[in-house]
Amino acid sequence: MIDNAKLVEQIKAIATRIEAEKDFLTQLDNEIADGDHGINLARGFNAAVDKLPTVEGKDFGTILKTTGMTLVSTVGGSAGPLYGTAFMKAGVALKDKTEIDAADFVKAVEAAIGGIQMRGKAVEGEKTMLDALIPAHKAMAAAVEAGDDLKTALEKAIKAAHEGIEFTKTIKATKGRASYIGDRSIGHQDPGATSITYVMEAIHSTL
Ligand code: ADP
Ligand code: MG
Repeated sequence: MIDNAKLVEQIKAIATRIEAEKDFLTQLDNEIADGDHGINLARGFNAAVDKLPTVEGKDFGTILKTTGMTLVSTVGGSAGPLYGTAFMKAGVALKDKTEIDAADFVKAVEAAIGGIQMRGKAVEGEKTMLDALIPAHKAMAAAVEAGDDLKTALEKAIKAAHEGIEFTKTIKATKGRASYIGDRSIGHQDPGATSITYVMEAIHSTL
């Protein structure tokens, strides 16, 4: 079980982790695109933390939607709308809940993926955050189905996400700015796949 106080703690943990990895994420983005991913995302999650006092004690839907809207308005680039929509859709999936179980968590991640795909029209294999998030969701869903608790399921998801990051090194980008350099993006890991894995690791660190 995760309650709404834990969710607030998780958003803070995400902001702390992204802030710590800001330079590395920016360096990854610099190799294949415009080098703003870490800076943008850190700005967005820090702004989301600043908004938390206004939603503390509220339901998951309110907290996640507020976080998503803050990300959309502060991150910019393509990651802002994509990350923002992911959090907003997760919020819709968890509307009115003040605590959730592992199955709810899986549903929220599924909704987040739906939001990212609605916005960005990418599928697996295009060298995006989805190459970490979709395998992570599959691993997590299978684990929860088999009776694992959330912490164990998330460990399996994180392992799958890391494999997804490795996979992004082997393929060329066909969505987003990195697609402009075509084959030259091969050999580099995707910044968004990396950051979304840090998000999962930050959540895991609070469990
Ligand atoms: P921008 O590309 O506008 O500079 P960022 O650098 O913040 O934005 O984010 C880049 C990341 O966004 C990429 O590494 C990739 O993971 C993700 N991304 C880009 N386009 C898409 C898309 N259409 N669908 C999913 N993720 C995408
Ligand atoms: Mg960029």
